[in-house]
Amino acid sequence: MECIFCKIIAGEIPAVKVLDEDLVLAFMDINPSSQGHMLVVPKKHTENIFEISDGDLAAITSAVRRCAKAAKEALKAEGVTILQLNGRASDQIVPHLHVHIMPRWENDGLSVSQWEMKPGNMEEIKDIARKVQEHLS
Ligand code: 5GP
Ligand code: ZN
Repeated sequence: MECIFCKIIAGEIPAVKVLDEDLVLAFMDINPSSQGHMLVVPKKHTENIFEISDGDLAAITSAVRRCAKAAKEALKAEGVTILQLNGRASDQIVPHLHVHIMPRWENDGLSVSQWEMKPGNMEEIKDIARKVQEHLS
């Protein structure tokens, strides 16, 4: 299996998980563009929005909304950017469908189309994941 997100789902490489359900996994992005940046993925390998089943898409959408709400509450975010890329031409790097959830604050300076890929502090990322989980209902 070549896919990095399938390896995370299979537990073969570590990730800071936020939500683990039958069809969906949410985990923290290792290069956070904003505090609390996380990814929501279908457990079944699917490359993009054109391939995913309606059932998996519904499960993803529900999980995205719950995680975004929990992150907004936990981090007192003023806004939340939700982003999903399809194909290299749209800057999709990992070919396993994923929805980015990026908590936002006024004047945070984040350029959503061109954020810097910079490794985050793992202790801080784990602490944020724990806070978000406390707000998941
Ligand atoms: P995209 O394909 O939407 O352009 O971006 C892929 C995202 O996956 C990036 O934000 C990147 O930081 C994240 N990512 C890539 N590899 C890993 C990994 O091994 N673990 C985690 N947690 N995130 C990853
Ligand atoms: Zn995959």
